[in-house]
Amino acid sequence: MIISNWKMNGSKKLIDEWIDFVSQNLEIDEKKECIFCPPISYLDQAKSLLQRRCIDIKLGSQQIDSNLHNPLTGGINSEMLIDLGCEFVIIGHSEQRMRLKESNLILSDKLQSSLEMDIKPIFCIGESLEQKNKKITKEVLSSQLNAIPDNLVHECVIAYEPVWAIGTGENATKTYIEDIHSFIREELGNRLNSINNISVVYGGSVNLENYNEIYSSPQVDGLLIGGASLDAETFTKIYNNK
Ligand code: PEP
Repeated sequence: MIISNWKMNGSKKLIDEWIDFVSQNLEIDEKKECIFCPPISYLDQAKSLLQRRCIDIKLGSQQIDSNLHNPLTGGINSEMLIDLGCEFVIIGHSEQRMRLKESNLILSDKLQSSLEMDIKPIFCIGESLEQKNKKITKEVLSSQLNAIPDNLVHECVIAYEPVWAIGTGENATKTYIEDIHSFIREELGNRLNSINNISVVYGGSVNLENYNEIYSSPQVDGLLIGGASLDAETFTKIYNNK
C-alpha cells in the first residue's frame, strides 16, 4: 500500500499534471493499493480525472468530521466523502492532533463515523521528539492505539508516523521502524484473535533514497508519503519500486 498525502498543497493545474503523469506511468499492482489524498477541495476533480483515465488509484480524504447532521460550519462528513469518491480517510495525523487538539474521544468518533460508511481509516500514531528522548514512545503509542474501539481495530490501517520524522528530512531507521511496528502488532494482537489483515505502514520523510530499504522490511506493509509524493515522477518511481 503506497499512500500519497498532499497535505495543504496543490492547485487544479498540479492535480491535472500529477494525475496525467501517474496514470501513464504507474504500474498498478492489485496487491499494492495506491491511495491519493489531495486536499478536499480537489477530490472531485481528482475523481473525474481518475475515472476518465480508468486507473485504479483510490481516493482518500485528509479530513472527516464525526458529526453527521449536527450543524458544523466548515465540516465535512462521511456521507459527503462517499459522494466525493473516497474509500479512505486519514485520521489522527499529528498536525491535526496538535493544532486541533484532537483527543482520543474525538478520534474514536471519527473512526466510528468513517467505518459506518465503509470508509477505511488510515489511523496515524507517533511520538514527538520530546517523548522519544524521554523514552516513553511505546507508552505514547499504546495510549494512541486505545482510541480505536475494540470492534473496529481490524478495519483500520495503522500509520506509524514519528512526529520528529514528518517533513524534517530525518526518517526513522529500518531497525527502529521494525521494533515499533512489531510492538504495534503485539499491542493489537492483545486485543484481537488475529491481526493478519491489519496493515501497518510507515510515514516520515520517505524519499527516493530511503524508501527501498524501509519498504523491504517484512514489518512494513506500506508507506505514507507527504512532501516527496507531490512530485509525480518521484511518487511513480517509489510506487513502481524502480
Ligand atoms: C505526512 O505528512 O504524513 C508525511 C509523512 O510527510 P513527509 O513525508 O513530508 O515527512
